[in-house]
Amino acid sequence: AKAQGKNCYALFDPDFHTRVVHRMQLEHELRQAIVHEQFTLYYQPVVNLSTGDITGFEALVRWKHPELGLVPPCDFIPIAEETGLIIGLSRWILRTACEQLQVWRQQFPTLSHLRMNVNLSVEQLNHQGFLSEVEQVLHQTGLDGQHLTLEITETMLISNTEAIIELINQLQSLNIRVAIDDFGTGYSSLSYLHRLPINSLKVDKSFTQQMHQDQINRDIVVTILTLTERLGLQAVAEGIETADQLALLKAMGCKQGQGYYFARPLPAHEIPPLLARGTIS
Ligand code: C2E
Ligand code: CA
Ligand code: CA
Ligand code: CA
Repeated sequence: AKAQGKNCYALFDPDFHTRVVHRMQLEHELRQAIVHEQFTLYYQPVVNLSTGDITGFEALVRWKHPELGLVPPCDFIPIAEETGLIIGLSRWILRTACEQLQVWRQQFPTLSHLRMNVNLSVEQLNHQGFLSEVEQVLHQTGLDGQHLTLEITETMLISNTEAIIELINQLQSLNIRVAIDDFGTGYSSLSYLHRLPINSLKVDKSFTQQMHQDQINRDIVVTILTLTERLGLQAVAEGIETADQLALLKAMGCKQGQGYYFARPLPAHEIPPLLARGTIS
């Protein structure tokens, strides 16, 4: 299971018995949440670092829990994955994100280039019907595949590499782009990176945020950016929180990014005012 992120609420009591009970309750509530449509997507703008223009969004799921309030994904995605609930939830996420992008593209015709990034989980990649579901969503929402980027992590590629390469090839034939998320934090995929039919690497926020602390982290970012360019891929820096981080990334040649410095993940209704301006700076 994934380590809990810093922004995770402590839903679990450290006592083991209590934890097991909470977990079972959480699983039960998660099933209810799907039935009662308690999920919502937040959208974080991805921007062109030199102009501040919004190039697209990353869709990030939240659970509007009746008592706990807004529950972050790290508190329920792992349970959804273990119980198989992730398949139905992910189907809803993909469809909702694509529908939302279509609404904004129609509302702002001059911004028709906007793209949507959607995170995948490994269970989806291994799910038989995945590709046809993606095709169906594109068909039903009328969204061209070129506006969709699917994010996978390095760890998803460790096993079943050949099958996943084949799947990515099929996604590419629908014009869908594929990004490697959290790049640099998983097992090194350098040996087969050049064989992966991907479009971009996302520089993990831990590197972005530690750049100012030491030279090593700056070297890592430079290395990722150099590698990206050599492989003909795009780089997107995550977790940009300060003007200093932004300045350094720009100086290093990074062209795209996202982070609290520009905008936090926002509920859908807060996005149109940003799109009306088109740029964040
Ligand atoms: P991720 O894909 O790496 O998403 C980026 C996370 O960084 C998001 O956390 C986002 O809110 C946060 N973030 C963005 N900018 C900044 C910043 O400037 N500073 C800091 N400290 N954090 C920033 P979030 O929304 O809590 O999501 C956590 C993880 O949960 C995601 O990491 C992703 O692995 C997973 N996740 C989120 N939504 C989905 C989804 O729809 N499907 C799946 N399968 N996983 C999801
Ligand atoms: Ca992501
Ligand atoms: Ca990430
Ligand atoms: Ca992640």
